[in-house]
Amino acid sequence: MSGQDLKTLKFINAQFLGRKRPTIEAISDEQMDQDSSMVCMTSLSTETTEDREEVLLECLELFESLGLENPTLLKEFHKSYLDYSFNNALPRQMKALDASQPWILYWIACSLRLMNREWLGEDIQRRICKKLFKASLENGPFCGGFGQDPHLVCTYAAINALALCDNVDGCWDQINRQGIYKWLLALKSDNGGFRTGLVVGECDTRTTYCALSVAAMLDILTPELCQGVEQFLLRCQTYEGGFGACPQEDEAHGGYTFCAVAGLAILESVEKCNISMLSEWCSARQTAEEKGLSGRSNKLVDGCYSYWVGAVNTILETQGYSSCIDKPALQEYILKCCQSTERPGLRDKPGKSPDYYHTTYVLMGLSLTEHSFNTTKSASAISTREESDKFQLGAVNPVFGLPIEDLRKFLSHT
Ligand SMILES: [Zn+2]
Repeated sequence: MSGQDLKTLKFINAQFLGRKRPTIEAISDEQMDQDSSMVCMTSLSTETTEDREEVLLECLELFESLGLENPTLLKEFHKSYLDYSFNNALPRQMKALDASQPWILYWIACSLRLMNREWLGEDIQRRICKKLFKASLENGPFCGGFGQDPHLVCTYAAINALALCDNVDGCWDQINRQGIYKWLLALKSDNGGFRTGLVVGECDTRTTYCALSVAAMLDILTPELCQGVEQFLLRCQTYEGGFGACPQEDEAHGGYTFCAVAGLAILESVEKCNISMLSEWCSARQTAEEKGLSGRSNKLVDGCYSYWVGAVNTILETQGYSSCIDKPALQEYILKCCQSTERPGLRDKPGKSPDYYHTTYVLMGLSLTEHSFNTTKSASAISTREESDKFQLGAVNPVFGLPIEDLRKFLSHT
């Protein structure tokens, strides 16, 4: 590599990719595995392999120190973290989430509901609804914050947050369904996906799932809106088996795979993708050592994929396919590595701080490992097979990301 090329590479790494370490060029020894024809890379050390060693050591230490039994979920402790946000200004570093205010409300409300339905009281529900409607134009579509443009992903979070508020003060009747329907039609792209906003915005599996979820929740999922959407999502499945953001040009990723599979579930078309490759890809996200799930090949374990990948697994189960992840192992990762007695809230991995996003998706992932579900092709009809008080958390619908009880109430009201 020439000096100029190296300079360009360094500039790209530092300015665009945010990499802290320099690129290291290394020639790896290749060694043939005795038992198979697989080529093993034995000496290639990368940023990821070094980081993984650190994470693995921390996980193994926790497994050893916490013993064979899983700790219980420290619900009251985590509640204190969630309640804090309703009575205090959020820390400065959260200013980056100024355009994601409906998300913060959805995450906190959903976490409280899952741990104890009574913890999301009427006064909090009222405050959530007031804030959401203030950050909207004509009661929908919704914006990320006051004075911002309507945004599809924020509208998804706002509808889910409202669904958790039990129609307090008739808030469900205030949602501007017709306005949201016209707006969604205007966001439709020629390739079958949906853009995030009218003027500018990306179009990918994430935005397309959000459009389908919002439309299904509000009972406005018309054939006109669904035109070409199934084909768009199916084209996003990659050679690895998972799904990327855009058709035929992206890397398989846990978040995008959830969006594509949940979107196909809403369209009752899951079986049209390559199920065996998808199952294999989901299985490969779980490592035997850390026991949790990662979002991509050669990436680190992360608690939020307990939901993104865990929900794909549950959706496949509700379609009649067998589970492709080890649920007891995932529970162990969540309870031993994603929670600590030092700080309330749940985290990505040991060494990271808790945040609202990870608290919600770790809790939802844990819930999915606890419950078993009936087989159905209808995303909104997914229900648990047994009602019992042995569960630590309420049951979640793996397609909509909401407690089943709240979703049922909201849909029956619609
Ligand atoms: Zn994460």
